[in-house]
Amino acid sequence: MDIGIDLGGHKIAGGIVDGGGIVDRVKIPTPESRYPKDTTDALESAVRELGIDGVRSVGIGLPGMLSRDRRSVIGLTNLPLWENYPLADVLEERLSLPVYLENDANCAALGEMRSGQGAGLSDFVMLTLGTGIGGAIVSGGRLLLGHRGLAGELGHMALLHRKPCKCGGMGHGETLFSADRFDERCLETGVASVPKLWSLREDHLHRGFWEEALEALACIVVSSIHALDPQAVILSGGLSNLPGLVAELSPLVDLRLANPFRPGPPILISSLGGDGPIIGAASLGRTP
Ligand SMILES: [Zn+2]
Repeated sequence: MDIGIDLGGHKIAGGIVDGGGIVDRVKIPTPESRYPKDTTDALESAVRELGIDGVRSVGIGLPGMLSRDRRSVIGLTNLPLWENYPLADVLEERLSLPVYLENDANCAALGEMRSGQGAGLSDFVMLTLGTGIGGAIVSGGRLLLGHRGLAGELGHMALLHRKPCKCGGMGHGETLFSADRFDERCLETGVASVPKLWSLREDHLHRGFWEEALEALACIVVSSIHALDPQAVILSGGLSNLPGLVAELSPLVDLRLANPFRPGPPILISSLGGDGPIIGAASLGRTP
């Protein structure tokens, strides 16, 4: 048995994972300050609430960048003051258990590989469609980390526009396809919710907006396919549940694919949802 924890800006969700499934769960709010000390305390209490008897390791998925050796946090999106914080060492000392860290989109990919749509695949691309677009690449059966450990940021793939991105760059895909942008559009146009806005995508008022958003996502998918030649592209996150998303996306992807890549790999929706990152985090101690 291993414990997997998914740290988010609003909640800490975790579970005891045995045989690739979650056998016990915990969910607590992320401390309001989101500071390292308070959040570390909360992570420790989440683990203790699950109980550590018979547990072999603890894995934590974090929304941001980690050191190449995965012992420290370099910086977290939307959580302040986490720069160069040695979370793995701090928690190991408190829990007397091996603690492993990984980026949350990478954890989602590991979860899919363990018990979801990625089972049996050696090469796939994962896109988590939420506040932004998280990305992860499994190549040759392993997570692709890159020289500094930052690889897989597919949401920040550059497209032919100049909108500033929250990451400090500009022209990135997630500036056009993200819950933040869709929420903004709802406010501007007086639409009650993102699913409602999506249901109005054929309406002349919203058609152009959604065409632009879907084309941005299609460009990310196509460039990922050309760069990595995956067996599948797996989508997860809240926006992956917009009804009919794959049906809208697939023709836009097909239009852009180079001939040798046709027919393109299947675009699949995660079968694990929010459990994916927890299952993946719990597998970190077992991942070669
Ligand atoms: Zn960006």
